Amino acid sequence: MNLTAFSMIAGVPIRYARTKDHPYGTQGKPRTQQVTEEFLEKLDDCFTELWNVCPHGKAESITSGGAYVEKAGRHGEGRAIDIDAIWWANKVLITAGYNEHKRFYLGVEAIIRRHLGTVLGYLYNKAHHDHWHIDDGTEVKFTIRSRSRVMFMQAALLHIWGKHIAIDGIYGPATDGALRTCLDVNASVSYSEVWREWLLRTAVMGMGQKKEG
Ligand SMILES: [Zn+2]
Repeated sequence: MNLTAFSMIAGVPIRYARTKDHPYGTQGKPRTQQVTEEFLEKLDDCFTELWNVCPHGKAESITSGGAYVEKAGRHGEGRAIDIDAIWWANKVLITAGYNEHKRFYLGVEAIIRRHLGTVLGYLYNKAHHDHWHIDDGTEVKFTIRSRSRVMFMQAALLHIWGKHIAIDGIYGPATDGALRTCLDVNASVSYSEVWREWLLRTAVMGMGQKKEG
């Protein structure tokens, strides 16, 4: 495993806010992290796109709880990062504040999901209420067997697309019916291109255009 140290993602400094002096919810202090070169490229692509699509543009800092750590799983392979918050000049997204800005949160998550397969956030479980866990251990692809993907889709359909459906992680007829009204006839979200296109439209709608999301 070849790790690369980095202090920026897509030109934006990484900070750390999980200490006594810099607690969660503050902008934190500069911190270098490590991931593989390949994973860093994916992060750069992901956040470059986020700065392009987001009405607030390029952020000023990204607060990360950590990337490579000596433990089992994707973090131990240098192929994961935890994101606590993103700070723009005129907007702050602290992930634990999901309930205060669901549309914006889900819009940002839609961009992340276009680049990295595994994204566990607020909806997934209590352990992820205060950060997004992001790794490339799974493909960028929609499958009804992925509870995190289905829950994200249901929340986006409800909060961004205005479809009245339950967020239960189960892809049933109600979710399927709601999704179909957001796709071209004959398009299936099981194709990566269709999934990624739907995510982009979801991101644009969720983050809003040139105003608060
Ligand atoms: Zn993690």
